[in-house]
Amino acid sequence: MAELPRLLEGLDPEQREAVAALRGPVCVLAGAGTGKTRTITHRIAYLVQRGLVAPQQVLAVTFTARAAGEMRTRLRGLGAGGVQAQTFHAAAFRQLRYFWPRMHDMPMWQLTDNKFRLVVTAVNKLGMSTEKEDVRDVASEIEWAKSSMISPEQYPSAADAAGREPPVAPTLLARAFAAYEQVKSRAQLLDFDDLLLHIAAILEDSQELAEEFRSQYRSFVVDEYQDVNPLQQRVLDAWVGNRDDLTVVGDANQTIYSFAGAAPKWLIGFPRRYPEATLVRLERDYRSTPQVVDLANQVIGAARERPAGTRLKLIGQRPDGPRPDFAEYDDETEEAEAIARKIAQLAKRGVPLSEIAILFRINAQSEVYEKALSEAEIPYQVRGGERFFARAEIRKAMSTLRTAIARDVAADDLPGAVRELLVEVGLTEEPPAGGSARERWESMISLVELAEELVGQVPDADLARYVAELDARAESQHPPTVEGVTLASLHAAKGLEWDAVFLAGLVEGTLPIQHADTDAAVEEERRLLYVGVTRAREHLHLSWALARAGGRRFRRRSRFLYSLVPDEHPAALPTKAKMREQQQIKPSKQQAKPKCRVCEAALAGTMDIKLGRCRDCPSDLDEDLLSALRAWRSERARQLKVPAYVVFT
Ligand code: ATP
Ligand code: MG
Repeated sequence: MAELPRLLEGLDPEQREAVAALRGPVCVLAGAGTGKTRTITHRIAYLVQRGLVAPQQVLAVTFTARAAGEMRTRLRGLGAGGVQAQTFHAAAFRQLRYFWPRMHDMPMWQLTDNKFRLVVTAVNKLGMSTEKEDVRDVASEIEWAKSSMISPEQYPSAADAAGREPPVAPTLLARAFAAYEQVKSRAQLLDFDDLLLHIAAILEDSQELAEEFRSQYRSFVVDEYQDVNPLQQRVLDAWVGNRDDLTVVGDANQTIYSFAGAAPKWLIGFPRRYPEATLVRLERDYRSTPQVVDLANQVIGAARERPAGTRLKLIGQRPDGPRPDFAEYDDETEEAEAIARKIAQLAKRGVPLSEIAILFRINAQSEVYEKALSEAEIPYQVRGGERFFARAEIRKAMSTLRTAIARDVAADDLPGAVRELLVEVGLTEEPPAGGSARERWESMISLVELAEELVGQVPDADLARYVAELDARAESQHPPTVEGVTLASLHAAKGLEWDAVFLAGLVEGTLPIQHADTDAAVEEERRLLYVGVTRAREHLHLSWALARAGGRRFRRRSRFLYSLVPDEHPAALPTKAKMREQQQIKPSKQQAKPKCRVCEAALAGTMDIKLGRCRDCPSDLDEDLLSALRAWRSERARQLKVPAYVVFT
């Protein structure tokens, strides 16, 4: 009992209420950094310590492997190491391995490691384009349909009702979807969504297996609940059954998967569904300095619509820190090199590299930062790209290790043997200079480090034991960690935090992304920026470059920045040369060159105007600019508390 108060210490009264609620359901609705994840980990540990539930009876789920790993680490630290904290998919995979043979009377089908290839085969059969981009669009539409529980037959009408814009005619997409399912099941393969579909179906169809499942798991916890999609919700319902020991936490302002079918309606609707639930709202932000919190409030405060459940304002709790820094660069290489230099300075001042992250909108952006970091000899790891165990070099390494076991290669004690075997698949003594070769080296060397770690725990572990350990990790997607700066997409960064965060590449077309062409899609991009900003504890650096590396096309800074860059900041005042460049390179079709101050300033994004046509010159402002200006104007209106219709002539 002496331990008990400790788990309630270090929590504020609202967090404590959620932790100490002895029975579910519990719902925590709160903004970023307010301690939602802390609350649920403490709650689990508290219930375990009080003997109300055994660790193995708790199933905690979240959406990314890294967030699940983070949760396991926090739980271990609180003395609740036996609790399963996994992604929905990893949890479903584990359960399916157990239940599948009993339901289907045959071994479980393999999980495909190349879904893309299956989609290529399917679209090829129908004579559709097999171009990478086209296939990817079809694949993501199939994913949306599956996670929305829509069959190929239902697809055309459901897509229409949901306002989807499929890359090909809806009926053709439906055929591609059906062909994909056929190709996949002929090969006896499962994709990630199948894991969820199958486990839900098993628990719904078999009373006996459902009861067995429910005698194993009693308490369910969902982090980041705002991003649950209909299929995951169905799985959750199948898990929980008619019991109510369910704890959910989330922040509707961080919904960033609605393009894939996720919706915050289950989070917001939770108190209605469970009127007896303990409902807690948190607003103190413990993660970030007040300067970062202010910026986060501004980003989300500018959202066009703020439905109930999203009007949460954060109140900073930490001491003051540096103001967020904004920087504009001429091209991406310059931006990346400047970031690498700033990282080196932070490291010199004692910020550990593992406490620094560069976050971007799309994985393809990572390359230029990887290059700059390699050149500056700063170690890094890329997150949220390909899953660690799906990487080609890791699959090759695993098959080499397995062959060695089959050949009974003498491999006593362990790290040296692993290293030698990996030399066969290209592991060099010294790390390659940079780029993807360096990344491959880093991932292989982390396999060697894992062997070292294992020998530390199990001194007589052999190769077979080691590979079994890797298999277990692959199953739960728990990759070994590599020390260094984290490079991650904004999606992969959700739930995590670093002392210093660099939000890079903030230009129109990237954030918001090019294909965000509806208001709803743009709002999701704004929430992504909010997620990015709220990852920083102390140092926050926002940057953009006016051209791609070596590119000549002019790019405009993200519309989300207009109201954020402080007026006195140099980045708020683009140089005349840049303005001229902007006018020359991006004239809209019918647009004459602006002649007046209004249009010139509007193009540079530094001045508010009465929207529409200028009365002094024949300029029609283009759509991008108009929407940036609208956002800027409404933010100004909010700040000034009067409509900001200022006309300069
Ligand atoms: P996100 O929405 O980004 O997932 P969150 O609400 O889950 O954020 P946590 O990650 O749980 O927030 O907490 C943010 C940080 O604040 C963590 O470092 C956590 O340890 C710290 N923290 C949370 N609550 C408290 C508290 N009561 N006292 C001190 N620190 C706290
Ligand atoms: Mg969290």
